[in-house]
Amino acid sequence: MQPSPTSSLPRPGEPPRQDSSESTPLEALQRAGRLQALHEIALRLSAAASRIEIVEHAVRAALELFGADEATYIEAPEPAAQQAEVLHVRGTRQTPLEQSRRPFPAGLLAALEPAASEPGDGQAQPPVETAGREATALLLPVRTAARLYGVLDVHLPGRQRPEPGLAAELAILASQAAVALEKASLIEEERRRAREATILLEIARATGSTLELHQVLDRIVERTAALTGADRASILLLDPSGRYLQPSALYGMDPTFVAAWKRNPIPLEREPLSRAALESRRPVVVYDALNDPRTDKAAVALFGDRSLLVAPLISRGQVLGTLFVNHVRRPYAFTAEDIEIIQAIAAQAAVAIDNARLYEETWRTSQQLRTAIESIGQALSAGFDLDATLSLIVGVAAEIAQAQGCAVALLEEDRLVVRAAAGVTPETWNAGAAQGDSALAEAAVARGTSYYIDEGSPAPLAHRQFLRSQGFAAYLGVPLRTQRETIGALSVYWRARPFEIPERIRLLTAFASEAALAIGHARLFALAARTAHELNAIIQHCSDGIVVYDLEQRVREFNRAMEQISGWTAAEARGRHCSEVFCHFDARGNRLCDRGCPVQHVLDTRRALLVQTITVARDGRRREIEASYTFVPGEDPGGSRVVVVVRDITSLKEVDQLKSDFVSMISHDLRTPLSLIKGYVATLLRPGLALPEETRLRFLRGIDNATDRLTRLVDNIISARRLETGMYKFALQRLPLTPLLRTAASAAAEHASGHRLEVDLPDDPLETIADPDEISRVVMNLLSNAFKYSPRGTTVRLRAWAEGDEVHVTVSDQGRGLPPDQLERIFEKFYRVPGQDAPERGSGLGLFICKRIVEAHGGRIWAESAPGRGSTFHVVLRRARSDTAQVA
Ligand code: ADP
Repeated sequence: MQPSPTSSLPRPGEPPRQDSSESTPLEALQRAGRLQALHEIALRLSAAASRIEIVEHAVRAALELFGADEATYIEAPEPAAQQAEVLHVRGTRQTPLEQSRRPFPAGLLAALEPAASEPGDGQAQPPVETAGREATALLLPVRTAARLYGVLDVHLPGRQRPEPGLAAELAILASQAAVALEKASLIEEERRRAREATILLEIARATGSTLELHQVLDRIVERTAALTGADRASILLLDPSGRYLQPSALYGMDPTFVAAWKRNPIPLEREPLSRAALESRRPVVVYDALNDPRTDKAAVALFGDRSLLVAPLISRGQVLGTLFVNHVRRPYAFTAEDIEIIQAIAAQAAVAIDNARLYEETWRTSQQLRTAIESIGQALSAGFDLDATLSLIVGVAAEIAQAQGCAVALLEEDRLVVRAAAGVTPETWNAGAAQGDSALAEAAVARGTSYYIDEGSPAPLAHRQFLRSQGFAAYLGVPLRTQRETIGALSVYWRARPFEIPERIRLLTAFASEAALAIGHARLFALAARTAHELNAIIQHCSDGIVVYDLEQRVREFNRAMEQISGWTAAEARGRHCSEVFCHFDARGNRLCDRGCPVQHVLDTRRALLVQTITVARDGRRREIEASYTFVPGEDPGGSRVVVVVRDITSLKEVDQLKSDFVSMISHDLRTPLSLIKGYVATLLRPGLALPEETRLRFLRGIDNATDRLTRLVDNIISARRLETGMYKFALQRLPLTPLLRTAASAAAEHASGHRLEVDLPDDPLETIADPDEISRVVMNLLSNAFKYSPRGTTVRLRAWAEGDEVHVTVSDQGRGLPPDQLERIFEKFYRVPGQDAPERGSGLGLFICKRIVEAHGGRIWAESAPGRGSTFHVVLRRARSDTAQVA
């Protein structure tokens, strides 16, 4: 309906003309009837339950009471929604009333404007009169002092101006309708408030019982549909990029359809209704989905939508998505109240969604942190390996920060050195350090707290440049601190600026303290392991035996020297009782341990103990030892130990013995010839004693012999010393051995005392390369021993022969012989077979010297013997090759 141009009658704002003097008695009667009817209408209007009923009464009264051809009530638009469609209730005298929604006619408000500016308080407003071709139209504002509810457009038959009384009465009708509408709207408002409160309470109850997002969403859509009487309700959530809508909850469709529907995010640009709601941050209403240009016709066809409303979901100023409320079976005229309620639901839903998301995020974060801390914990208990711990840290940190690069730099001599990196190699990082990487980590260390920068941060230019040069957009450095000190920094790098920066900082800071702890532990462990390794190496390579017992006197440590002493391997000894592997004996072979265990004694007294005893190895070898037992208290009572250091003093004892033997030997061997000399000389010098020449000569020969013996003894001592120290010089030459042996035999024969000497030599000169003096010394020594250690009258035999490129020389006797265990030992320095009487005591140096000389010539010497069956000494020398002229 287009409003008619207004006429000048009556002037808007002027009081209605009450020209009753011109009315006829019939008119007066009609008027009285109408006033009576108006009164009844007023009663009916105020009894009407709803706005639509009031409007219908008013329109019907205009038609029936005032004889209008046509009457229309046009609802006034909301001040904020001038473009919105409003309710029209139209009737003619022939047709029933019809309702529709159409835009509010442009200009209609302006036509009423002057009147609207001067509202009569509760009084009827004068109509605006318009004249058409066939009818007179009256526009009657339906208003109270507070509000304009609408306009009553009444067309009266004929082109005459209506009777003034009639216009005034119509104005009264409009005014009565306005009062009734106000009352109804106050009641409705109350009811709406109550309903809204109930709805919101229900939504709050539905969403408050869970924090799980999808449950929250499902409840919201179900409750929204139920509370607003819609057929369907759904929620689309914006994804983090803000470019897609994720179908998240849908009430009113088959569950299998819902599942499929959720799988396909919708690009925001293809959802104009959501976009409009999100951009305007206001609900978007579609009354006629089939014809509205903003709807997706395919979706409308699929869902069968007739009317729908899309409300933005906004929480803490952020748009989260949209809430759809759809009417499917028939079109639905969303009222301002509906819109308000849905908006309130949407606001409440948004808060619930936000809370659920926050909860989920917090939960996810705590899960991540827990996983991270668990893996660090695992690393802590697993290996204590620093490198492994560091690479684990960078891996986990990159993952929980969702970062593309991560590095751990440790402070080493006041410098930060990258020790592990993920996503980038440590080499790259170290190379880059000069340009600023360490400057970033250093900044975190220097601040003592996290250091975050991205391209937009007010960070030093060098820092931002470095970040860009490495292709990163954001950096976060967190100092690694143990309880006592800062040990380095954990750095993470993102290719794009991350979301939720404060959350990440919090997460990484928490993680960094765990990581620092793990690094500290791994370092301590490495140090402890190194120390333990060094200690173990020292123990193992110590020349003294070391054995460690626990409180149960079982072997815990056993070093190599101890293996030598005891004959047990460390692996065998470990765990065995001390009495099994290492025992003490006295010289007579009695077990001292049975009388008092030294380990037990030390455990009881906690005092050190030093014992010098004999121990018998597993193979029966006896060893003189010196063992010092020490109690070492442990950190816990079970950790105490007894440490035993065992020194094998067998050879020391032997040397001691040898020394005393040597001293007694030397003193005897020196004294004997010296006393002989002294005796002879004293006799010769005796004054007045005239000795026969023969006796005098015998004395002098005796002196000569005695000095020879002394010279030999001193010679031997000097030779032995020289041979030992390598100072001995040999004059090697091509030497025919046969003549040398023959000469030696006849010289030795002079010392034979009642023995027969058989010499069995070949014609072959048996040429060797040798020092003649030394070789004859060897042979003389062997012959003299043979005479010395075999009884008078027996035979001593000297033989020589060639065998291959060797020359064999043997000296055999028929003496007492030697036990097998002495055959080697007789070649040791100062060694003499115990209990052997010889007419002339030796020094124990002869065979030692022989062996050294023969071996220095590249030859071999050994003895063959059996007790009581004589001995044979073998000397083997290399034969000189026929072409060898001189010494090699
Ligand atoms: P000594 O000066 O005591 O003879 P040697 O070194 O020549 O020293 O000999 C070492 C020991 O070897 C002797 O003390 C003796 O017990 C033993 N011995 C050496 N030759 C013989 C032998 N022909 N028969 C038995 N025992 C011997």
